[in-house]
Amino acid sequence: MAEKLVVIGAGMASGRVLEQLAETAPDAFEITLVNAEPRGNYNRIMLSPVLSGEKSYAEIVTHDAAWYAANRITCRFGAAVTRIDRQRKEVIAEGEALPYDRLIIATGSAPFILPVPGKELPGVCTYRDLEDTNAMIAAARPGARAVVIGGGLLGLEAAAGMALRGAEVTVIHLMGHLMERQLDPAAGYLLQRDLEAKGIKVHCKGATKAILGQDRVDAVLLEDGTVYPADLVCMRWASGPRCGWRRMPISISGAASP
Ligand SMILES: Cc1cc2nc3c(=O)[nH]c(=O)nc-3n(C[C@H](O)[C@H](O)[C@H](O)COP(=O)(O)OP(=O)(O)OC[C@H]3O[C@@H](n4cnc5c(N)ncnc54)[C@H](O)[C@@H]3O)c2cc1C
Repeated sequence: MAEKLVVIGAGMASGRVLEQLAETAPDAFEITLVNAEPRGNYNRIMLSPVLSGEKSYAEIVTHDAAWYAANRITCRFGAAVTRIDRQRKEVIAEGEALPYDRLIIATGSAPFILPVPGKELPGVCTYRDLEDTNAMIAAARPGARAVVIGGGLLGLEAAAGMALRGAEVTVIHLMGHLMERQLDPAAGYLLQRDLEAKGIKVHCKGATKAILGQDRVDAVLLEDGTVYPADLVCMRWASGPRCGWRRMPISISGAASP
């Protein structure tokens, strides 16, 4: 008899696992796929071309409803798993208990949010999923002002995408040069010059003190007193020892049954 397999997370890793299972063990499991995002697997890496307008979301979907149906995968999208009961062998998502014999946790990580005042204001986003991408697309009208905090690879992709849509973009980076984990100072300087030639303003050695605004973000205040007006703020720090990543919290109870 097929075992019940619950897969938590419909991201890049689980997409490959599901394909592998469909190829090599199509009848071994009754699969339920649970995802906090209200959609199934897509190519997250390709969100930047969606942001810049070079691709549509439909073009980056890797597994669609027909694929899940053909492979008899039951989908629960828009349902975050909040608890795993190992004794009862159940995961709890939006109040629903889903029994499992085998469980795969493929929940990835979530970007770090700077713990500064104003971080919760509407108009502040990170850069991880389609919601963030759509928020940036909506805000990046010609003439709108966007501030990206973090001059690593993803921050710069966010900046370039919004600039292509016509926004006036400023990148604030804590370190002395951009992408310092990948580039030496000279290469970082050349990259900065290239971005500035494309109209993107770069502020290195900039420490964010607060995000200003009443009902919505208005501006970003740096420790040195500089204020950058902003209609949207995207926080996208590179991962690393200074900032780290967090995982969506799932409480796990009970000893594992054999
Ligand atoms: C714009 C962008 C560009 C990138 N470019 C590159 C690149 O060029 N090269 C590269 O190597 N990497 C890149 N990355 C990083 C890469 O996308 C990640 O490393 C990869 O997606 C991790 O895969 P994953 O399956 O572990 O997690 P994810 O793809 O993050 O998927 C995890 C899924 O689990 C879901 N989830 C989380 N918690 C729960 C829960 N409690 N209940 C239910 N579901 C949950 C999430 O909603 C998410 O859909 C990029 C990332 C972004 C955002």
